[in-house]
Amino acid sequence: MRLSGLGVSPGVGIGRALVVSRGARDLRFRVPDHRIDGEIARLGAARDRSRDQLRQIKDRIDRAAGPDHAYMFDAQLLMLDDPMLVDRAVAIIRDQRVNAESALRQALDELSRLFEQADDPYLRERKGDVGDVVGRLTMNLRAGAPQEDLFRDVEGPLVLVADELAPSVVAQLDWQRIAAFVTDAGSWTYHTAILARSIHVPAVAGVRNASRVIPAGALLAVDGNTGEVLVEPPAPVLREVEARLHQHRADERSLAALAMLPAVTEDGTAIRLEANIELADEATRAREGGAEGVGLFRSEFLLARGGAAGLDEDAQYEAYRRLLDEMRGGRVTVRTFDVSEAQLGLGPAGSGDSSRAPLGLRGLRLSLSFEEVFQAQLRALLRAAVHGPLRIMFPFVTGVRELREAKAAVAEAAHALETRGLAVPPVPVGIMIEVPSAALTVDLLAEEADFFSIGTNDLIQYTLAVDRTDDRVSRLYEPLHPAILRVLRLIVRGARRRGVPVSVCGEMAADPALLPLLIGLGLREFSMAPAAIPVAKQVVRRLRVTDAARLASRVLRAATAADVERTLTEFQPAAPGRQPMKG
Ligand code: PEP
Ligand code: MG
Repeated sequence: MRLSGLGVSPGVGIGRALVVSRGARDLRFRVPDHRIDGEIARLGAARDRSRDQLRQIKDRIDRAAGPDHAYMFDAQLLMLDDPMLVDRAVAIIRDQRVNAESALRQALDELSRLFEQADDPYLRERKGDVGDVVGRLTMNLRAGAPQEDLFRDVEGPLVLVADELAPSVVAQLDWQRIAAFVTDAGSWTYHTAILARSIHVPAVAGVRNASRVIPAGALLAVDGNTGEVLVEPPAPVLREVEARLHQHRADERSLAALAMLPAVTEDGTAIRLEANIELADEATRAREGGAEGVGLFRSEFLLARGGAAGLDEDAQYEAYRRLLDEMRGGRVTVRTFDVSEAQLGLGPAGSGDSSRAPLGLRGLRLSLSFEEVFQAQLRALLRAAVHGPLRIMFPFVTGVRELREAKAAVAEAAHALETRGLAVPPVPVGIMIEVPSAALTVDLLAEEADFFSIGTNDLIQYTLAVDRTDDRVSRLYEPLHPAILRVLRLIVRGARRRGVPVSVCGEMAADPALLPLLIGLGLREFSMAPAAIPVAKQVVRRLRVTDAARLASRVLRAATAADVERTLTEFQPAAPGRQPMKG
């Protein structure tokens, strides 16, 4: 079987499928021989627990509403012992060597098909009951085993196949064991894709139904450049993919040789290249890969384990301090949390899913409404700033009023530290420009911000009204739309006129084919996934700023993204390592 999607993180990965669905609640993978009996025992224990629970529920309903309503639980109790359910799952565990959850799910699918074929409407309706019983069994399986332990000794390498993959789930995985990611949903600027590029894991997103059609344990070959996913490829094809994998590694090694060369254009203009980092562990690799600093630390990834409640001021201080230590004097720009209420872990129950509300309470506006969380983060940042050149950056700023409120919060945090007797060094405070209203008021913001960083991922989404996480509209997500080029020019001019440094930290900066254009528009600082830095260096070192400026003025006259793209291709027909930008 051959599936295809959007290649969102380059490289090639080969491994066995570990299937994750419904926000990591369903986990399906192949287990080693020595764990087969353990899986069967787990299923047995889950059946016993489910039986006890169903009996209790039945008694309660019997007392409260009478036996007419309690009878359905008799049916569920019978299903627990039906040979076509748990016993069938046991047989699947033995035959296919998959985990108990996976076997149960397969048994459920088989039974559901039988019920669907039944003529009797009563029988057809029983499908819901079996689903209910399987849901209970799965819940009890999980209650008996923490997720980390579940695939502790599963044979690797693994390809994680998921319907949706939250960055917080990825952050907790042991990446050494993950050969690639494949997701049903997602796009180029989806946070999991960004994270995959940062941690050098090949990834393909937008592969419709991958998590349903790929069996747990199937051998997969994933190409993050072409977006191709091969399921159980025949030996000759596999050998060809392996050759591609070795080639990719060799290319990476030869690019790494560029890492320590200065990023200076052929005509002598210095370009600053920094790294976007989601996890403090990546800092050393970024520095070694040639990053002059961290241009964007997405601090919200610190929340992955337990939300704001599990992350106090001291824990954050340690994390920021570690980043500064790892960068050995290189500048570190920490962006305050850019999350939704649900991700902060403090919102009302059921206050949303794991994605950021695109027009709702997120970013700075969320921080401003959770004062304690914001103050703790600002105190931690100001304390850490004693150890190196740290900058504070606010996400999702829409205008001067918000910036003023945020700066007042910084002053308050500094005051709190001073009353504790701590010294607070001056810390530059800047903002992301990622909302059109900020771009349109850049001259006003420049009076009060120490620096700007352009977040093209959101800026494109809000300027073009295209949801960056929705693969159905990814065709419309055009970084080269004339509106985007104009808005970039507006920001650069506004910032330069007032002497405020401006960089780009959105994914546009990581596309080597777009770098000449961005430099031509007047930008001199960029922050990108560490893996993109060596190629960016190569592009910079071959570029003349005068040519880039000519290119920009030509491109700004183009009427459509396609015209822009054509002009760019003429300028640089074979950009090295080009990954086309996608939504
Ligand atoms: C952006 O919006 O371009 C950006 C860098 O931030 P994020 O991708 O985290 O929204
Ligand atoms: Mg953003």
